Order: sequence, then structure tokens, then C-alpha cells
Amino acid sequence: MNLALWLARASRDFAERDALFHGTKSVASYAVLGRLVAQTATWLSERGIRVGERVAIFMPNRPDYLPLLYAVWYLGGVVVPVNAKLHPKEAAWVFENSGAKLAFVMADFNKALENELNSKSVIELVPLNSNSLLEFSVDCIPMAPVERNNDDLAWLFYTSGTTGRPKGVMITHGMLSAMALNYFVDVDAVYKDDVTIYAAPMSHGAGIYNLMHVLRGAGHVYPLSGGFDPSEIFTLAAHFGSAHMFLTPTMIKRMSQIASKREDKPKGFRTIVYGGGPMYVADIIEAVDIFGDVFVQIYGQGECPMAISVLSRKDVSDRSHIRWKDRLVSVGKAQSIVQVQIVDEAGTALPFGSDGEIMVRGSAVMPGYWNNPEATKTTITNNWLITGDIGAIDKDGYLTLRDRSKDLIISGGSNIYPREIEEVLLMCPGVEEASIVGKPHPEWGEEVVAFVVPKAGYEIRKEELDALCEHNIARFKRPKHYVCLNELPKNSYGKVLKAGLRKLI
Ligand code: AMP
Repeated sequence: MNLALWLARASRDFAERDALFHGTKSVASYAVLGRLVAQTATWLSERGIRVGERVAIFMPNRPDYLPLLYAVWYLGGVVVPVNAKLHPKEAAWVFENSGAKLAFVMADFNKALENELNSKSVIELVPLNSNSLLEFSVDCIPMAPVERNNDDLAWLFYTSGTTGRPKGVMITHGMLSAMALNYFVDVDAVYKDDVTIYAAPMSHGAGIYNLMHVLRGAGHVYPLSGGFDPSEIFTLAAHFGSAHMFLTPTMIKRMSQIASKREDKPKGFRTIVYGGGPMYVADIIEAVDIFGDVFVQIYGQGECPMAISVLSRKDVSDRSHIRWKDRLVSVGKAQSIVQVQIVDEAGTALPFGSDGEIMVRGSAVMPGYWNNPEATKTTITNNWLITGDIGAIDKDGYLTLRDRSKDLIISGGSNIYPREIEEVLLMCPGVEEASIVGKPHPEWGEEVVAFVVPKAGYEIRKEELDALCEHNIARFKRPKHYVCLNELPKNSYGKVLKAGLRKLI
């Protein structure tokens, strides 16, 4: 089924409801959104876009985003959302790799992109100005969504590329509908008076999460800043009164820091789903103390978007269970639409509690990478997705992620998981951020190097960090070197670039 039908039905069933907001101002009802989408689909098809062809969207979160996404789906096309923070050179690479025929871009970027595109490139760039809402399609006759099957492509999701070039994950209509429907089963409810605030990039999880809000006829709020500005988010949540958001752990940490300096308590947050990177225990405890029981954690990856496991609202906030802290470290239990197992290097399933590679299969798992059969072959085996993450499942079904397998450090034959050491260093009151990498060592294979970012006004002493590690972790895991940095290198989604850190040692 074509996912665009959900929007077509929403525009009929919730016609009068406000669908899109720019800041606090309503800019389209569901009826208007439906018409915009259906006319823009016609405009695209008059422009020569056919079923199965790719259309890129390279812009910050703004009200045009959703209409464009659905317009492409209406005519059976495939969207290629590109993170707005990418350099025009990187965006041009994604356009060409995806074979996109057309790309919607912000007018200010048009020139820079033209300069970066290969001279043989046939892509058409469509520049949009900042108050667009797609006026170019007003004279087009609205069309109805074309038929699509569950295994037809809907979205090419370019991985965040913490190592090497990003790969295009093929996301189908069936994967997205399974993920969205399962959200109601495992993650949260959505009510008609809710709004979702697009603070994290829509080219990633926040955009994928639009579906449940369309299904329920809820509002879609685009911050005027076009992204993540904590003060603006506080104002928007208080204004709307029942806000939903998807945020990364680093964004939540920033929200807590700002909230703790404000006089008024945060208001209007109903659900904040977090994921996309490790949430350190001290940070989520602080966030729950400040915001209350609004958090749900998900674990996913582009290859199985938002749908590997979930740590429920209760597990995140209820401190009465004897193992509540262990559960808080975990990423929760497998979502209902997937099967998760832990295997050793030979691919043999491991018993409860053993660390190994996390494998996933089920209806949210990708069929493969775009035009990259070699990468597909090494990532999918017998319908199982090899996640590249290491973890263990306890007897109650809770999955704990240790680290990315390529970040694992092996010293003197023993496995060391960076995350475990990072958690300890973050216990130091002067440490803002910490990241651990392995440095080649002639005798031990690798040794542990810690990168730390001090909090403003603090000076971190090596002895203080050594003492913390001595009290909390085995000797062989303790960092041999500490390097102080002003900030950690991160990619455009805020993930720490360990490859960048390794170059510094
Ligand atoms: P991406 O494909 O860019 O979404 O990145 C996916 C990767 O982010 C996963 O393979 C994990 O390594 C990491 N990740 C996603 N969700 C979580 C989470 N809840 N906790 C820790 N790491 C996560």
C-alpha cells in the first residue's frame, strides 16, 4: 500500500484541523495540506518524474518538508531527504549516488550546489525561498496517490557516515507502515490534540516519525529556527500543551542544562522519544528529574528505522524496581515486529547475558543498500540484519548495547567497551563529554585513550579521573592517556566521530 493514502485520508477525515504550524502560527489545515500535496505531485509528474524515480530534499525543517515528502509518494516516487547540515559537496554526492532527477533546495544553496555537481549531472535543482509553501503548484490539478506495494521503495536514507562514505538504505512503504503501526503498540499513543515538534533533522528519525501524527490528524510544528533551539522548544511546548518530539541524547542533555537554569518548570511535554546514540545514565536520571515521566527510548538504525527495541516510559522513569538502573542502561526489549538475537563471530546464537553481535529480522528490516550489493551481502545474511552493534540480552528480554563493534577495543586479548569507561568518566563533576578510543600498542594490541571535554570553569585533573576509574572498573580497562579537548568532533547528526579522534593519537 502507498503510505501517501494516510495523508489523503487525513485530509478528508480531519479537513478542518490545523496540520502545519510555523512556530505557533498555523500555516495549513489538513484540507489545505492534502490539496498542496496532490497539486505538487501533479507538478512533479508534469516535470517528468515517474514511478520509482528519486527526488531529493535538502533543506532545514520547514513547513514545505512534509508536503514535498508526500507529493513524491503520491506519484510513486522515492524521497531522498538529505541532512541540511551537510556541506554542498556532500549533498551533491548524495544527489548523484541516489540518481535523483530533481532536488528541492533552499535558494541560498542553489549556486553552491550547482558548483559541486558533476558537469554531466542531469539533476534539476528547484530552489525554494523561505516562505514557499509550494506556490508554484497552485494551478495544477490535484492527483490521487498511485498504487504501490509494500516492497516498493519509499525513502533512501543515507547513513550518517561516521566512517567512510554514507550508504543509501532502501526503506520501503511496508517497512515504514510496520514501524508506524507498531509505534502505537510498543512506544506510545498519539492523540488528536498532540503536536509533534520537528527539532531534530527531518532527514532522520524525527521525519520518519511524522507518520503516526498524520494517522491521528495531530499537528506538525516547525520551529522558526528550523531546528534545535532549546529556548524556542520550551516556548512551543508550553504554547501547544501536548508536545511530542524525537531527540538525540545530546539534545536532551542540552535541554536539561537549559531547563535547570530557568525559573519556570518545563511545561507541555507529553512524550520525548530518544535514541540514535548512547544515553548516559546520569543524563537520563537528571532529565527525568527535570521533565518528569515523559521519556521513551528506542534503538534503531537506518537499516531498521526506529524499530529494533524500546525502553518503555515506565522503565525509564520508575525507580522502584530492584534492577531499575540496569534497565536504564539498556535499550529495552525487542519491538513486536522484529526478532533480535545475539551471535558470536561464527554466527551461532548466544545464551542470555553473553556479549555478541546484535542481529535483527522482521518487517522493518531493509532489503539492502542502494546500488551496493557488496555492502548488502556483508550486512544481510539469511534475512538477518547484522547491526554492527555489540550487546547482550538478559533473561527478562532487556537488550544492553555495549558499543559499535568497530569501536570495541581489544587489549591483551580482553574486550573493552568504550561506553563503560565513558560512563565512569562522566561521573566526574568537571567532565562535560568523554569519548574512548583504542591506540595501537606493540605489546597489548591496543591501549585505552580517553578524550575529555571539561565543563566551563573546570580544570580536569588526571588524578581525579584515575581515582574514579580505580573505584569503578578493572585495571586493564583504565585509560593510559587522557587528552583534553574543547569539543568532540561530531557529524551532522551530533554523533561523535571516533575515526576523527583516532587521527589525533
Ligand atoms: P543511524 O543509522 O544513523 O540511525 O545510526 C544507528 C546507530 O546508532 C545504531 O547502530 C547504534 O549504534 C546507535 N544507536 C541508535 N539508537 C541507540 C540507542 N538508543 N542507544 C545507543 N545507541 C544507539
